[in-house]
Amino acid sequence: MARKQMSEELSPARWAFNITHILNTVLGPEHFPINVQEVAKELSLQMYRDDPITEIQGKNIPGFEGALFKDPSGQKGWAIFFNNSFQSKGRINFTLAHEFGHYLIHRVRYPNGIQCSESDLVRWDSELGQIEHQANVFAANLLMPLDDYRRQIPDNIKITMEMMDVVTQRYAVSLLAALIRWIDYTSKRAIVVVSRSGFILWAKPSKSAFSSGIFYRTASSPPIEVPANSIAARPADFDIEKAKKGMKHGPGVWFKEPSEEITVFADQYDLTISIIQFAL
Ligand SMILES: [Zn+2]
Repeated sequence: MARKQMSEELSPARWAFNITHILNTVLGPEHFPINVQEVAKELSLQMYRDDPITEIQGKNIPGFEGALFKDPSGQKGWAIFFNNSFQSKGRINFTLAHEFGHYLIHRVRYPNGIQCSESDLVRWDSELGQIEHQANVFAANLLMPLDDYRRQIPDNIKITMEMMDVVTQRYAVSLLAALIRWIDYTSKRAIVVVSRSGFILWAKPSKSAFSSGIFYRTASSPPIEVPANSIAARPADFDIEKAKKGMKHGPGVWFKEPSEEITVFADQYDLTISIIQFAL
């Protein structure tokens, strides 16, 4: 890869695509899950010998998910920290990829580094700042390249939790990260709804769902409650396994038409995550 192609002007998706191309060439197409620590250190050193990522480690940084800092030892280069109170490999992986994205795309504009709060990585709606969004797009594209994901789950099929378990393991990502990636490309009508304590925090429809009127305006007030008859609204009525298996609803539970809901309670971010799928 010519260095000039790796300019700071690349879009987050293009950055990730170029790195995927390198990994495919060097490691072969079955290079998942991606070892972000190794890739970030190795590639940053190859591309920017005078300004590489020199250190990646877990730190006690309450309130923050991760951070990109100038190397604290005063040497050249950068350090990536992640919050070491979190145990989930998927969560840490995404954070590392997010910070690697900041390094590639934003370090020149933010010479003192960037600190990322938990909500920067969980919120995917329009309220999120642009650089945080860019880092998330980079991370999602790096960890879950679209062509590979499509081979795991084709565009036009209904998903199950079993399928999502396969991809979250393949890519070592959280369920939420995998679902957001899927909802972006699926041709099925579906919406991912993220709620907490019975209120919708945000929701992301697929393109075909959106154009048929399936969406929530979560930026507006008052907050929107999850539908009363949904699984998401009734954690006491569903054990975790039953909720994951999901159920069919008649019209009027989720929007005005019949739907199928799968819900996962208490994901790693203390969120309730629902996947609502509609007939074509
Ligand atoms: Zn960030």
